Amino acid sequence: MSKQERCLHFDNGVQCNNTIKAHSIQRNQSLSTLAKDGHVYQISPSIAARRHQGQSIFEKTGINKASTFLGFCQKHDSELFRPIDTNKLIPTEQQAILYGYRSICRELFVKQNSSDFLSSILSFPIDNPAIEQLTRGVLIGTEFGLESLHKCKEVYDSALKTEEYTKVRYIVFSESKPPIMAFSGLLYPHFDFQGNQIQDIIDFTTHNEET
Ligand SMILES: [Zn+2]
Repeated sequence: MSKQERCLHFDNGVQCNNTIKAHSIQRNQSLSTLAKDGHVYQISPSIAARRHQGQSIFEKTGINKASTFLGFCQKHDSELFRPIDTNKLIPTEQQAILYGYRSICRELFVKQNSSDFLSSILSFPIDNPAIEQLTRGVLIGTEFGLESLHKCKEVYDSALKTEEYTKVRYIVFSESKPPIMAFSGLLYPHFDFQGNQIQDIIDFTTHNEET
């Protein structure tokens, strides 16, 4: 699934013929700060490693490979993300959007692959009704999440295309010490920072705000 390459840039098209391993976490500004001799530790993505006594294990990975996905062509990746790849985080509104955009595109890439994979499983007969029901349930949830992600990406696409960066709100937490870890991801928050419930993620009839 992870080898299904494509460019998720808002202006993608026939010119995107050179897909690269794009970083979901910035190599120059984040990974290089953590790295020792050009390497970091990341949770192993291999299924064999996950079976290791039921626990995830860490593996040493070069920063050119860590956190990468095949979701951008070389031209679009280097052009679009230059403000965060070559400059320190200030942050400007443009930088905040670009950090978010990389996370959203990576999540969309993974979820689309997952949806395609589940659909392909269900195109074959499944003997065990319980497994079939479970797989259909996971597919429904995945497609629901994917639809929300597409809507979210459209907002970012439009902001980046028109260079109107005020459409997206962001919050930055800073610390005086150098970081010891880096991550990039999305989640559906149940509660805001004051503890108020902001959505019910089990309710499929309303659209959730992925953040
Ligand atoms: Zn492209």
